[in-house]
Formats: sequence, C-alpha cells, structure tokens
Amino acid sequence: MSEQLERPTIDTAEIIAVGTELLLGQTINTNATDLALYLSALGISVYHMTVVGDNPGRMKDAILQAVNRADLVILTGGLGPTDDDISMQVVADTLGLSLQFSETAWRQIEQHFERFGRKATDNNRKQAMLPIDHTVLVNPEGTAPGALIKTTQDGRAVYLALLPGPPREMRAMFERELEPWLEAHSDTKFIHRFVRLVGIGESAAAEKLQDLTDQQTNPTLATYASTGETYVRVTQRLDRNGNGEDLTEALIEKIKERLGSYIYEIGNRDLPKVVQDILSEKNMTVSLAESITGGRVAAEMTKHPGSADVFLGGVVCYTNESKRRDLGVSKDDLAKHGAVSWQVAKQMADGAKARFGSDFAVSITGLAGPGKGDEDEKIGTCYIGVATPDGTEVFEYKTGGGRRTITRRAVLQALMRLWEVIR
Ligand code: AMP
Ligand code: MG
Repeated sequence: MSEQLERPTIDTAEIIAVGTELLLGQTINTNATDLALYLSALGISVYHMTVVGDNPGRMKDAILQAVNRADLVILTGGLGPTDDDISMQVVADTLGLSLQFSETAWRQIEQHFERFGRKATDNNRKQAMLPIDHTVLVNPEGTAPGALIKTTQDGRAVYLALLPGPPREMRAMFERELEPWLEAHSDTKFIHRFVRLVGIGESAAAEKLQDLTDQQTNPTLATYASTGETYVRVTQRLDRNGNGEDLTEALIEKIKERLGSYIYEIGNRDLPKVVQDILSEKNMTVSLAESITGGRVAAEMTKHPGSADVFLGGVVCYTNESKRRDLGVSKDDLAKHGAVSWQVAKQMADGAKARFGSDFAVSITGLAGPGKGDEDEKIGTCYIGVATPDGTEVFEYKTGGGRRTITRRAVLQALMRLWEVIR
C-alpha cells in the first residue's frame, strides 16, 4: 500500500458481495466465506453480510446501511472491465468522491497483460479510474486494482475496501494488501515469521504445503512471491495482551521437512544479505562477470553494509570485445559458440576469478530480447558460471517474459547459484 492512513482500531466489519450471478445462484459466494474466515482470524467481528446485484440503486442502499454500522466495509466484485462492473463508480457516487485516471494503475494493468503476451483494451482503461487521494490496493493476480477509502459517518472513521470478484484475486489482494493493514489496526497481537525460498515457484511451494494450509487455524501459513523469490509467512495470533505459547517453531519444522532444500533464510534477511553473511563467516570472497544483467548482480551484492569484506568487484562485459579483452574469453569460442553459451560463461567466471583473485566468481551471459530474428529461440536463455576453489560449473537457465522480467530473474538465479555452492 502506498499511503499511510491514521490508526484507528477496526473492531467490526461487514461484507458486501456484488454480482447478479450470485443472486441467480450461478456463482457460489465463496468470497464471503473466505473474507469471514480472514476477519475472524484477525479478531474482527462480522455482524452482517449482504449480496446485491449489479444495480446502482440497490448497491448504494447496501453501502449506506453498512457504513452506518461497521468500522470496515468490504465490497467484492464489480471491478471488472465490462459495463456491469460498476462498484468503483457507485462507491464514489455514494460517498461523494470523484474518480481520476491513474497512470500508475494503468501501467500496472498493461504490464499484467504483457506478462501473458496480450494487450490491454480500451475497456480496461476503466479499471484505472480510481478515487483521488485514497489508497490503491495492488492486484497481484489480475488487472483490476482495488481501493481502500476512508470516510466519516457521524464523526466516526469508516473504511471501505473494494476487492475484485475472482476469488484468487480477492484472496491475493486481501492477504497482501489489506491483512497487514488490518493487523496494524487491531488490538490483537501477532507473531510473524518468514521462511524464504529460492528456486521454487509460489504455486509449487503452495502445493507442497496445501494440507498444512488447510489444517492450520492458528498459526496460519500463506505463500507469497515476488519475481522469482517465494516466501512463506507463518502467523500466530496471540491474545490481546500478547500472551500465548509460541507455536510457530513447530510449524516451521514441518515446512522445513517439505521445502528444506529451497530455504535460504528463516527470518528477514534477503538473498544478497545471506550470501554476504555466509562468505563473511567463511572469510571468503567473490567477484562477478556480468553480461545480460549489466551490473545488477553487483548492485545486489553491494546493497548491504559490510559488502566490501566479501565482494571484490565485477566486470560488466557487454560486448564480445570486452569479454575477450577484459576477461580473456577465447575469440574462437565466441565465434564458434556465441556469447550466450556454456563455454563463454565458463571462461567469464574463470577470467573474473583470476583477475580479482577471489575465492569464487559468478558469471552470467544470456539474451534478454526482444530479438532481431536470428537468436530468437535463445531469448530468456542464460548461462551462469560459478568458479569455486575446486573448479568451475556452468548452469543453464531458461525463463520467459519481457526484457525486464528476464534480467530480474537472471540476477536472482546468479545469486542463487552462488548461494548453492557456498551454503
Ligand atoms: P466481477 O469482478 O464482479 O466481474 O466478478 C468476476 C468473477 O468473479 C465472477 O464471474 C465470478 O465467477 C467471480 N465472483 C464474483 N464475486 C464472487 C463471490 N462473491 N464469490 C465467488 N466468486 C465470485
Ligand atoms: Mg460482476
């Protein structure tokens, strides 16, 4: 969430599910169930739930009634791009707010389509119409952003949250955007612990933990992802005074049994910090040879104080000439195998290790695209060389997406390969 709101306590909430399909019995109102479970876990009381069709007059009535009696009103549905998706407009009309086209939201919508190789249509522009001066809720799973609106009712602060209808999107937005905010606005105390994973996607991790996710009520666990990195959050609710036995450790043990080899951290350190700490502990050093990532791995390696103890430097060798001249990559191999090859990655890593005199060196070469034709099939292909005191290994990594996504994932892969050899 971009903006910080004041901190009143949220004790009561009310849920309004919007959609004529719900009234016709065509869709089961699972969002209401999910939201009620979330809210009760947060110690927030739900006294009313409403279902209303895609009708402005009746929606307005439902909203006015709800804001009259709850601290928080959650609407789900009606944020889509079609004509019957009117929740944002009706809320704005009901509360006397105006909507404005948000460039930021529009860019996120366009990026969402891009990820699937499609283009946003003019219909989608409507989804970027958001209330001015209110908090935008990011939709990690779909196009429609949500909103968290503060209003006053008889001198009392009331919040109205708009969430999307598709259950997957609703849950993702609630868990990532609203839940942390609600915890901060609740009297109930929580213990949060993070298990950080690399080399496994969110859905694969979630699948391995499915039964735990289903069984657990307190502590609960949820998986999250951000460009290649996945983490599991374990949350235990304590009583209002913060008392209760810590049950998170036992659950983390179960997560370790299933995902142990992917776990690089139980706590708050990111991957560069973990890598830095391991090297520092072993009194060892690393250098880099970067092509596709253009220095971004070095940027990651220098994020934290004390990095100079372990990181000796890097070469951004973006051209064949630089690979040859600065790292001693063989001209013949460059011509024969191409810059994006096993052979070149190996020589880049060896070259950096020799040049900097480090214990380890990581190289990365790949094609981020978009291409000019010849090497199109190689877009998203990277070779990562890892030189160690005992020899050099090269790993192939293939990914997809646009240029930015590919390079971001490449950075993470390079760090991951290094972590794997030093751990
Ligand atoms: P909408 O955002 O209203 O266009 O909803 C998109 C889709 O999400 C609908 O077609 C339903 O399949 C689903 N949906 C909407 N509201 C709910 C709900 N309350 N519970 C479960 N699914 C829903
Ligand atoms: Mg709808």
